[in-house]
Amino acid sequence: MTAIPSPRGACCSVAARLLRTLRSGSALPSELLAALGVTNDALLHLTTHLESLGFDISRHPMLGYTLMEEPQCLTPEAVLSHIEGDWVPEVMALSTTTSTNTEAAERGLLEASGPLAIFAEHQTAGRGRLGRKWEAKAGEGLLVSILLRPNSPQATWTRITTLTALAVSEAIESVTGVYAGIKWPNDILVDSHKVAGILAETGTSPTRGAFLVVGIGLNVNQTDFPPELASKAAALRQILGGKVVNRAALAAKIIDRLGFWIERMEQGFELALKAVTLRSTVLGRQLTLHSGTMSATGTAEALDENGGLLLRLADGELRAFSAGEVSLRGA
Ligand code: ADP
Repeated sequence: MTAIPSPRGACCSVAARLLRTLRSGSALPSELLAALGVTNDALLHLTTHLESLGFDISRHPMLGYTLMEEPQCLTPEAVLSHIEGDWVPEVMALSTTTSTNTEAAERGLLEASGPLAIFAEHQTAGRGRLGRKWEAKAGEGLLVSILLRPNSPQATWTRITTLTALAVSEAIESVTGVYAGIKWPNDILVDSHKVAGILAETGTSPTRGAFLVVGIGLNVNQTDFPPELASKAAALRQILGGKVVNRAALAAKIIDRLGFWIERMEQGFELALKAVTLRSTVLGRQLTLHSGTMSATGTAEALDENGGLLLRLADGELRAFSAGEVSLRGA
C-alpha cells in the first residue's frame, strides 16, 4: 500500500496551488515564486514532485512553466487543487486497500481529528450495507471515505448520509451536466441506474470519542460491469457516451458540496431536506420498505427532521423509518 499524504492548509498544499496557477495559463518562474511565496529551489522541488506523479510540465526559457497534461490517477495534490470552498479536509490517496471505510475507521480509533478524506484506486473488500460487495475496477471509480467528528448531537448524525447523497448528486450534475436522483436513503441514480452508493458507519475512539465515517463508491470511468450488475449499475462515462470524467475535479466538487452542507448541518438542514426532496426518486410513490425481518408497504410521504422516511401505511398511520431498503412498486 502506498500512501501519498498531503499537507493540510487553510487553502491547500503548495503543490496544489502551483497546479491551480498553471491550470489558468503559463507562468514565468518569477510569477510563480511571487504567487506561491517559495524559493527557487522549492519551486524546482515542487515541479519535480508533480512530474513524478505524472503531471507533464514544460519549462520554456521565454514562456515559463506550462501544464501540458494531467495524469488520470487520483492524487491529493490534484484533488486539493480543484477544491474551491473553505472546507478543506486532509486528503490521502492509497493505491490499494481492503476498504476505505475500514482505513478511515482505523484512523478514527486513533488520534485523527478529521475531516480526513481517504481515497483508494482499488479496494479488495469494498462493501455496501449489510456487508454487500461494492464492485469497482482499479482506477475507474471514485472510492473515498471521509472521517468526521461532528460537533452536533449524535442523534442527528444520520443527517450526514442525506447530506452526502445531496453533495454527490450535486457534484455529478455540476461536473457532468447529468441530473442525478437520490433513492432513499443512500443510492444515487441516473436514469434509474445506480451510479453511487453511500455507507455511513460510526465508531468510538477511547481517547477522542465518537466519530463517523461516510464512504462513497461512485462509478465514474467504468466501461462495463459484471453481468449481475450490468442492468442496474451505470458509470458516468457510459452515460456521457464514452467521455472520460476527471475524477479529481469530481472528488473536489463532492468535498466542496459536502463541506457546504455540513456547515449547515444544524441551521441549514431544512434547506438540505428541500433539495433532497426535489431529487428524491421515492417520495410520492408506493413502495415496500424492508428493515431486518420487518417490511412495511405504503406511500413515501416526506422526509423527517433527520432525513428518515415517513411512510403512510394502508391504515392511515404515518410511520418514520431511519433506515431500510426500498423496493418501488412497478419501478
Ligand atoms: P443498497 O443500499 O442499494 O443495498 P449498498 O450501498 O449496500 O446497496 O451497496 C451494495 C450493493 O450495490 C450490492 O449488493 C450490489 O447489488 C450493488 N453494487 C455493487 N457494486 C456496484 C457498483 N459498482 N455500482 C452499482 N451498484 C453496485
